[in-house]
Amino acid sequence: MADKSRTPMRKKERKEKESTEMSKDVKDVKNEGEQAVDNGEVPSAEAAAANGAVGDDQNGEFQVEALELPPFEIIEGDRIDPFAFKFQFKNVEYSSGRNKTFLCYLVDKGSADDGLLKGYLEDEHTGSHAEEAFFLQCLKDYDPALKYTVTWYVSSSPCSDCAAKIAEVLRVRKNIKLSLFAARLFEWEETDIQDGLKAMHAAGCKLRVMKPLDFSYTWETFVENEEQPLNLWEDCTENYEYYQEKLADILQ
Ligand SMILES: [Zn+2]
Repeated sequence: MADKSRTPMRKKERKEKESTEMSKDVKDVKNEGEQAVDNGEVPSAEAAAANGAVGDDQNGEFQVEALELPPFEIIEGDRIDPFAFKFQFKNVEYSSGRNKTFLCYLVDKGSADDGLLKGYLEDEHTGSHAEEAFFLQCLKDYDPALKYTVTWYVSSSPCSDCAAKIAEVLRVRKNIKLSLFAARLFEWEETDIQDGLKAMHAAGCKLRVMKPLDFSYTWETFVENEEQPLNLWEDCTENYEYYQEKLADILQ
């Protein structure tokens, strides 16, 4: 369940207007990033670096909360188990039993020597969440001089707390551009969830529901697929259209 105690953050969020410009070049850079993945250019040094300590002081509030995290509850990896993927990413309307978030990420730092960071995070909704863990673990060596193009494929959209944190990070760190593709919308009927999605959108996050092609791409890129194609489930397109319509209504 979403924690509803953090509404004060939203007051500040409304001020940001220029941030909507941030998403304009995400698509182009993302495509470059995807090509790099297809070529297998994943730097092992980057992946190894994803295991360490806490970030910097660029973002005070976020940093303080980070210290409370129990780090062992987050699972970090390169490729997802295929059975876990098929269950967790299935875009059913009611996500019964799926009480965790899988977050697949691509990070392009815009410089040739740093290459592309790729992997996934997995959480339990009872512990710390994958969205927050991403910024603490995967971007722990955050450099304000670099330009980050980040793409997430998540099994469900963020809870209101995570959405508020994501929006805050994107406001403070204007050199991070985030595109988020979600298989399902988490508790989208709830007002605080909708406010969270709107805040992320206003902070420049490009929010989308995963299309059938996105599932196939994620399967090929992040899953232990043993060279087998993903057989999309029967109602995949229909469910995508359902969630896409809900998201469009929320963000309009
Ligand atoms: Zn969350």
